[in-house]
Amino acid sequence: MNPPAPATVHDLSFAEMESALVADGVRAHHAKALWRAVHREALVDPAGFDPLLPPARRWLEANVGPGRRLGIDAPEQIEEIRSSDGLTRKFLLRLGDGQVIETVLMGYEGRFTACLSTQAGCAMGCVFCATGQMGFVRHLRPGEIVAQVLHVRRALAASHPGRALRNLVLMGMGEPMHNYDAVIKAMHTVSDRRGSNIGPSRIAISTVGVIPAILRMAEEKQPFRLAVSLHGSTEEERRALVPVSARWPLEDLVDACREYGRITGRRIFFGWTLIAGKNDSPATARRLAALLRGIDAHVNLIPLNATAGYDGAASPAGLEFQRVLLDAGFPCTFRQRRGIDVAAGCGMLKAENQRRAVARA
Ligand code: SAH
Ligand code: SF4
Repeated sequence: MNPPAPATVHDLSFAEMESALVADGVRAHHAKALWRAVHREALVDPAGFDPLLPPARRWLEANVGPGRRLGIDAPEQIEEIRSSDGLTRKFLLRLGDGQVIETVLMGYEGRFTACLSTQAGCAMGCVFCATGQMGFVRHLRPGEIVAQVLHVRRALAASHPGRALRNLVLMGMGEPMHNYDAVIKAMHTVSDRRGSNIGPSRIAISTVGVIPAILRMAEEKQPFRLAVSLHGSTEEERRALVPVSARWPLEDLVDACREYGRITGRRIFFGWTLIAGKNDSPATARRLAALLRGIDAHVNLIPLNATAGYDGAASPAGLEFQRVLLDAGFPCTFRQRRGIDVAAGCGMLKAENQRRAVARA
């Protein structure tokens, strides 16, 4: 199946932008200035694209904007919530068709990281996840993913002039590997040195375990980091939390990770949401260590954030769980939970916003 035709200027790869200009009789070298304006300067309004020479400007005016061949991805910010320490900012963004997604900016030890959404909703149905509880709405286009990075960079430039956004995690709403082509295209755009310039090794794509996509990433030698959310050390334990384990079983998933490691030589980050009495016992930690044996693995523990649709609780036994993994030789850290007070889990701010809207109606 061919990928859908680009709908906005932010959907275009550099090569596509260049060919679009050339097809309209504009010399290829104008693509560089246009790309810089769109991606490095993160300009939203074509009227502000000053440095463009007349041929590129004319092309832009004729082709880009409302009602023209290519739209502009400039999601509307409908809410921003800051953590009390001011280091986490969560943006609720409305897309062109009214869908609402979340993007988060986190400042931690002097580094800035953005957490991006890749879908509106999610089809995977993990029981503890606010996005999973909403169900699947639609995939995001590449431009809608790129535009989140530009939005965060504009916000960062306003609050911390001169500071760069250096890291990305695809751990917001949605399953990135269910929207593979758009996600990979968007990540190549944002890692382009002439644009947002976020190094591929500073981009982590997190998946619930879509095996064919993990193998495809390895075969295509995609330069990004891989994070795999496991949450269970046996099929039964995992399936109770992650229903799609029925489709991509734990054992096959771990084999695919081993294969990914063999092909790429890269470390894999394993995500583990710790839930009291479900997947937090020392026996589970020992089984996890045995499963990962021989894989260059780093385990990220995430304390459960409570969601409306699931009555599990955060585990009190996280440190013990961590100790077992460390003793087995695996680096194991708690994922920074900066700003728990800004509805920290993915999809939680949107869920809260919807509840407030219902309450107002
Ligand atoms: N779909 C991808 C990426 C988005 S979810 C994935 O599942 O990996 C990003 C991470 O947040 C996952 O590890 C997920 O398990 C975790 N997560 C989701 N909801 C959570 C919650 N309520 N509490 C703690 N972690 C949660
Ligand atoms: Fe989807 Fe990830 Fe949430 Fe599971 S944890 S429902 S895969 S967003």
